[in-house]
Amino acid sequence: MNRARSTSSGIPVIAGGKPVRNDFLVFGVPQIEEDEIQEVVATLRSGWIGTGPKVNRFERQFAKYKNSQYAIAVNSCSAALHLSFLALGIGSGDEVITTPMSFGATANAIIHTGARPVFADCDRKTMNIDPAEIVKKITPRTKAILPLHFAGRPCPMDSIMTIAKKHNLRVIEDCAHAIETKFKGTSAGRFGEVGCFSFYVTKNIITGEGGMVITCDHSIAEKLKIFALHGMSQDAWKRFSDDGYKHYTFVGAGYKYNMTDMQASLGIHQLPRVDRYLEKRRLLWERYDAGLRNLPLLTPPPSEPDTVHARHLYTILLDLDQLSVNRDFVLNALTKENIGVGVHYIALHMHPFYKQFLSSEDRFPNAAYVSERTISLPLSARLTEEDIEDVIVALNKILSHYRR
Ligand SMILES: *Cc1c(COP(=O)(O)O)cnc(C)c1O
Repeated sequence: MNRARSTSSGIPVIAGGKPVRNDFLVFGVPQIEEDEIQEVVATLRSGWIGTGPKVNRFERQFAKYKNSQYAIAVNSCSAALHLSFLALGIGSGDEVITTPMSFGATANAIIHTGARPVFADCDRKTMNIDPAEIVKKITPRTKAILPLHFAGRPCPMDSIMTIAKKHNLRVIEDCAHAIETKFKGTSAGRFGEVGCFSFYVTKNIITGEGGMVITCDHSIAEKLKIFALHGMSQDAWKRFSDDGYKHYTFVGAGYKYNMTDMQASLGIHQLPRVDRYLEKRRLLWERYDAGLRNLPLLTPPPSEPDTVHARHLYTILLDLDQLSVNRDFVLNALTKENIGVGVHYIALHMHPFYKQFLSSEDRFPNAAYVSERTISLPLSARLTEEDIEDVIVALNKILSHYRR
């Protein structure tokens, strides 16, 4: 409404023109509806705001949605990943193969256990870890593979599971982008022994902060529960309920990783809408595909047959050969048009901290290629087709102006 529409022939703000919109389009804005607002208020009034019946309900809902035996709610996906490694007994002296095209939390979870992250390059188009690169990185110390379903596009799990079986490796899936994802009929997180999910504010459904681990192994589920709450014997929260006093026993030095009923109040209403939100993002996605067709950039490749792409991020790759400016210039130019953008990711091997985990022969040409060219455009069930149109107009203005 307070939007100054302009045309693709307009001058970018960064070159002296007017912005495409007057209000800032926030990147990754969550969709929050009245039901969860009421639920949070009801939780506050109930006096039970810690880990309790609503967490339990959210876990059961999530397990059902993922067709998993167990779901253990935690306070982040980072915690979920860390606990998963601990539950699988991975630690000092072990190596875990993962993708450099991810967020630091993926590699950090490995490092926190004392194990070493070993990076295997990604595919340039799908941005998912390349199974052929995984094979090259296997050593006698390799204990596990940690694939990430990038942007919600499933990794080639048939190849990855074949490699894992052949070399006797555990598989932990980073499903932070991939609640809705399926590969050939199987839900993401159900291939490996554990799958880890995020409900961080920008993710497909949100609990403010929050995460979930799914598994079908009873003993792993028990360990996850115990280590998520101080290392206390399980269901310690029940000691505050009315079915009799129970003593707790410490069985290890656990963590404070539990989810609270305040967070679960959001989750229990968000989860039933997860596929409706996906459908909305799919429509916005198609709008982007059509509107960006003739620009010097690559749009995400179509999803493979017999898969569900969770469409968490719409990531373009700029064709730098056709532009007189670099990616960071375009990021700035879009921000000046009042379009919020993201970068997923600057590959982990390019950050100084992770250099210590590289070997001298390590090269990641595809991850480096993506890192220099990628831009994530706003995508959320909360956005309108007009919002997407603004992004398209802004990109048209900028890329036409700086086209070689
Ligand atoms: C968001 C994210 C995480 C961490 O999730 P939190 O819930 O914020 O801890 C881990 N891995 C990837 C790929 C992510 O995008």
